[in-house]
Amino acid sequence: MSALALATGAINLGQGFPDTDGPREVLEAAREAIASGVNQYPPGRGTAVLRQAVARHQRRWYGLEVDPDTEVLVTAGATEALAAVLLAFVDEGDEVLTLEPAYDAYGALIGLARGVHRTVPVDWPDFQPDPQRLREAITDRTRVILLNSPHNPTGAVLDAETLQMVVEAAERHDCLIVTDEVYEHLLFDGVRHVPVATLPGARDRTISISSGGKTFSTTGWKIGWLTGPAELVSAALAVKQFLTYVNGAPFQPATAIGLDLPDEVFVGIAGRLQGGRDLLVEGLAAAGLPVSRPQAGYFVIADGAALGFDDAVELCRRLPELAGVVGVPVSAFCRPEQASRMRSLVRFAFCKSPAVLTEAATRLATLSTR
Ligand code: PMP
Repeated sequence: MSALALATGAINLGQGFPDTDGPREVLEAAREAIASGVNQYPPGRGTAVLRQAVARHQRRWYGLEVDPDTEVLVTAGATEALAAVLLAFVDEGDEVLTLEPAYDAYGALIGLARGVHRTVPVDWPDFQPDPQRLREAITDRTRVILLNSPHNPTGAVLDAETLQMVVEAAERHDCLIVTDEVYEHLLFDGVRHVPVATLPGARDRTISISSGGKTFSTTGWKIGWLTGPAELVSAALAVKQFLTYVNGAPFQPATAIGLDLPDEVFVGIAGRLQGGRDLLVEGLAAAGLPVSRPQAGYFVIADGAALGFDDAVELCRRLPELAGVVGVPVSAFCRPEQASRMRSLVRFAFCKSPAVLTEAATRLATLSTR
């Protein structure tokens, strides 16, 4: 869809990347790092200053104590953390449970590990899992429960009660919990992020994954990390060694500077994004498209059916020509057998500047007059 946006000149609300730069201090720190010679392989576990900053971050925001030397691993984005963990812990035939729709890397990585992808559906408009179904989906065959809150593509946030239920089921069936929290600072309307590792019984079986890309608008830097018990982190390190070994030397200390920025900076980042969410939600609604109001993240989901577009795949292919905008069909985040549940839903990114979102809304408004 990004290629389609480039080819047609349409506004790209498909892929989730911001169109403005993040905190100046973070960008400046990367420039300084390059200028001062931080250009060779960093240590395998990641630069010490970043591992220490991740540990401080976990303590400051969540009261979680992690040892920067043994319980933190820096990765090439959250994606490599996910890959390393799944390849380390999933053997052929092991089940990995996710919500569905799910971030598209999950299914692919479970496939690379030769695992079996099981899912619990979440549906329009609130995209919350049914607790009973979630509990029943966790069995002795489940090796990994792969959580993602705040959730891509829906922006749903799992509450502490649901997460606690998952932890208890994980204890009962001896599963590992892997939690992808890349949107941990991008919550709206006063909703709070609950890291599953903070819940009773979770810490010893949980690997938490995050990344600097979303928080600091540096998605192209691909600096991520995972935290968890030392032996689990070591297992992930053993795989990571032969995925990338290391990456992004000058971006690691720069991301550390970002993690140490004062609370107000993080609150400001979420506040600006919430403004973008409001602009796009209102714009889509004014265009006659029912829209889910996400509590977090980069994306909003709209239902094309109200305007007679029952097939979101077809609508997304035609959107550049119809309205000069690009979106992504939500069915792309489902396995083929589940895609029909999301048939008319389109995901749009609102991590764009107000002017771009206003223009996109104006263009989308023309859909109802066609
Ligand atoms: N997890 C989720 C839920 C995401 O949305 C993304 C980025 N789209 C990633 C992981 C990948 O993060 P990174 O770019 O740090 O690899």
